[in-house]
Amino acid sequence: MLNVNGPITQEQIKSSLSKEGAEMLNETLVQELIYEVTDDNENSISIIKCLLEDKITDEEISEEIELRLNIVRKILYKLYDAGLASYKRSKDPETQWYTYSWKFETDKVIETITKEFEKNSREIEESLAYEEDNMFFSCINGCRYNFEEASEHNFICPECETTLEYQDNSPLITELKEKMS
Ligand SMILES: [Zn+2]
Repeated sequence: MLNVNGPITQEQIKSSLSKEGAEMLNETLVQELIYEVTDDNENSISIIKCLLEDKITDEEISEEIELRLNIVRKILYKLYDAGLASYKRSKDPETQWYTYSWKFETDKVIETITKEFEKNSREIEESLAYEEDNMFFSCINGCRYNFEEASEHNFICPECETTLEYQDNSPLITELKEKMS
């Protein structure tokens, strides 16, 4: 579900996981997750900050950040739908109105990012194994083929029709190993 622009680095993930409470909201990865869920970055972050500061009803939040109540509600329900927020409903004995007290589910954010971390680790491991098990050939434009593919095309790039040259992938292997550490 976490679909961010550009590759996620293990470092970003570790950094996000090491933060607690409102501090975690400064993390790119957390912001991207929230944006992904709500389509609204700025207001969402402000709303979540309110929740973390114990302003937990939609009215309180609306007043605090001067945002229309229906927008606040819409974002809260989007967070709820993704499991990133929960609410409790209680009835005011005098007015008989229902009040919704909201909670930001920090654990769910951590869980989502942890899963992403594990998926990311697996992908790096797989790439590393693939790089170590294969030889690569590339054209001047950067198209890249493994030995089987290159030899199938007689070492001519099928895209650019230029010669495919052996490419030393040891810098890439080093890079992948660094990412895993
Ligand atoms: Zn090419």
